[in-house]
Amino acid sequence: MIYMLEDESGIRNFVLYALNNSGFEAVGFETPSEFYKAMAERIPDLLLLDIMLPEESGITVLKKLRSEKATKKLPVILLTAKSTEFDKVTGLDSGADDYISKPFGTMELISRIKALLRRSYDNDNSDNIAIKNLVIYPLKHEVYFQGNKITLTLKEYELLLILAKNRGRVFSRDELLQYVWGYDFKGESRTVDVHIRTLRSKLGSDCELIETIRGVGYKIGDAK
Ligand code: CA
Repeated sequence: MIYMLEDESGIRNFVLYALNNSGFEAVGFETPSEFYKAMAERIPDLLLLDIMLPEESGITVLKKLRSEKATKKLPVILLTAKSTEFDKVTGLDSGADDYISKPFGTMELISRIKALLRRSYDNDNSDNIAIKNLVIYPLKHEVYFQGNKITLTLKEYELLLILAKNRGRVFSRDELLQYVWGYDFKGESRTVDVHIRTLRSKLGSDCELIETIRGVGYKIGDAK
């Protein structure tokens, strides 16, 4: 889920339309108060944040997010008409992960979003992951399940890793396609299902590690 806080409805609608068409779930907000209300319900995977807003500036919103434990690491891309070097530095100093100046093309925006999401899903690459009977050693690319070493193809491994690193988070098939295969196209979700099936069979027929969330996608474990 991507949130966008932008008061100009033209830009907001245009970007939301492009994101939805690229397989992202995205919701827009006109004012910080609307945005905070939604944040209390659900924290997104990434935020597109305008700087010049009613009520308070995007920089103030960003500082608030960074001071809260739950949103300290929320990936944020600042969108703004201000493009001087000074503003760029101010934005990044206040904790933005990336910065894009208006006017921007949706292709560029989407590729920055993907890069940032990939970075955020991939962080802490050195830590071993242990969930139930599964242990992954990312540095060695090794997977053990119930004490047995499991040999996986690269895609199976990446699929397992992204689910395990984000335990408890449900990924849609489209999201998995994008992050593991880098594909944009819809209608290929069968690719994901096929790989999940082979993963499960390699982990063992009684494997309930990877859960199917009906009508949505897949997840591993419960959030910590
Ligand atoms: Ca604005």
